[in-house]
Amino acid sequence: VSKLLDLSRPVESGMPVYPGDLSPQVEVCASHDVQGWGANSLHLGEHAGTHLDAPFHLIPDGQTVEQIPLARLTGQALAVDVSHRWPGQAVEVEDLDGVDLSAGDALILRTGAGERADFEAALAQAPGLSEGAAAWLVERGVRLVGTDAPSIDLSFDIDPGLLAHRQLLGAGVPVVENLVNLERLMELVRGRRFTLHTFPLRITGGSGSPVRAVAELPNV
Ligand SMILES: [Zn+2]
Repeated sequence: VSKLLDLSRPVESGMPVYPGDLSPQVEVCASHDVQGWGANSLHLGEHAGTHLDAPFHLIPDGQTVEQIPLARLTGQALAVDVSHRWPGQAVEVEDLDGVDLSAGDALILRTGAGERADFEAALAQAPGLSEGAAAWLVERGVRLVGTDAPSIDLSFDIDPGLLAHRQLLGAGVPVVENLVNLERLMELVRGRRFTLHTFPLRITGGSGSPVRAVAELPNV
């Protein structure tokens, strides 16, 4: 039996989000005492918490979230530790070329941001992919790239060009941000391949969506 590991942040009122995004609210709209059932309404942006960026997020004629083929959103994956690039350094090709990436694999970057309680510090200091490293991953046929940082790029204050986003999304490679539990993931997989599921909501015209990111670990 394979083991499932949740790589998603809880969705809750006041969860930290990227500057400028709507602050999420989970609001009770029916209660067992009053209506006789429980239900909440969600007020949140497409990029709240653990979420996927569709190509359209930065590419005007790129795929919107419901147009991404399902096969892009599930499959084999590898994880690499890049936390030595903390704080605020770019992740370069030399940090990735030890990874045995095959075309069609997803790659997860563990920056260490997911284990830090201070989201503001993660925004300012998390390592981000360099443009060259993003282009290199595209050449290798990467299926999807994930990170525990708030952005796949370096902090907007360090580099406002969003060049890693542009390289990946421009090649039709979706990005997943704000993953958690990557330290645990790395301990469990120890360099082996695992299966990664990152299905977004089927939002018509969506630029992205919250995802329930789940790693399915190889048998141990
Ligand atoms: Zn995003």
